[in-house]
Amino acid sequence: MGKFFSRKLGQTEIKSFPIGFGGIPIQRVNERKAIEIIREAVKQGINFFDTARAYTDSEEKIGKSLSDIDKKIYISTKTPANTKKAALKDVKKSLENLQRDKIDIYHLHNVSDEKTYQKMVLNPNSALSGLKEAKRMGLIEHIGITGHSIELLKKALKTGQFSVTMFCYNFIENECENDFLDFCRSKNIGMIAMKPFAGGRLNDASINLKYILQQNDVLAIPGMEKIEEVRENVSIVNNQNVLTDKERELMDYYKEKFTTQFCRRCGYCQPCPEGVNIPIILRAQSFINRMPEKDLKNGEKAVYKAFQTAYNCINCEVCIEKCPYNLPIPRLIEKNINIIEKFLQ
Ligand code: SF4
Ligand code: SF4
Repeated sequence: MGKFFSRKLGQTEIKSFPIGFGGIPIQRVNERKAIEIIREAVKQGINFFDTARAYTDSEEKIGKSLSDIDKKIYISTKTPANTKKAALKDVKKSLENLQRDKIDIYHLHNVSDEKTYQKMVLNPNSALSGLKEAKRMGLIEHIGITGHSIELLKKALKTGQFSVTMFCYNFIENECENDFLDFCRSKNIGMIAMKPFAGGRLNDASINLKYILQQNDVLAIPGMEKIEEVRENVSIVNNQNVLTDKERELMDYYKEKFTTQFCRRCGYCQPCPEGVNIPIILRAQSFINRMPEKDLKNGEKAVYKAFQTAYNCINCEVCIEKCPYNLPIPRLIEKNINIIEKFLQ
């Protein structure tokens, strides 16, 4: 028997139940249902909720659900802003939505390429300077950074400006195990694992959670949109069983099956000379599983527009050479065009 202790997030004072609540999927349910799910999560012991300015009404739903809860709850949210002014504006909007005087962790959201890093972190007028100002004003407690490039996160963390980081981690996308987890430990950085279910592409909750729970200082934040999911996830934690031999065999099977199809969102294949947004298209099913249908069908929205770039692919194969996982990208684009077309019908 193993034991899944509560998670202490690095140098912060945050002590969380072994899993937190990922706030993406509650965008898909109505407010009444979202409140029921969130309150059930609290009842089951979850005390860490993650959301973002970019997750439409997720902050508001969390704020409404937790406003009268008389128990210490930690909140983490994020800004996609590029400037100081926009980041400060986001912090104030989050405080209003979440009905709080202070937010425990405010992240720079999805810093995954050099251009974004320059704008969000390095520029004198960066979003980071806005978060530092918010911290001085007592509006936020800790500054975090999220992204899909481990190398870029490492570079950002070396600046000493961040006390928490959030990165992709599941039993297939486990590059962080190479040396990133130890790097964070050496700097006492709080570690939050996003996408423990690979954005809905890996659906065995027991394997997904137990795999990450093995690391007793990493906080996984599975997205939940049903009361049953909350109960199932919490019971996996509470049962405190380690991975069984059968589950390990199944993991090997999934790894083998997905290894040639699974986009890790690293972005090395970009830019495509024809403007194809490869990482978004290759994750079409994940967006369809998690995002509000009305947004994905809205021609004005970024993901819809990114899906449409799939038709620009001329099969030149330039991207294949750039992908460190040797994914057969043009073939996967074709497959995802079918998924997208079926969804849009
Ligand atoms: S094969 Fe398609 S996606 Fe890849 S670089 Fe060429 S046009 Fe872009
Ligand atoms: S297709 Fe390959 S290079 Fe492009 S984002 Fe996915 S894993 Fe990275």
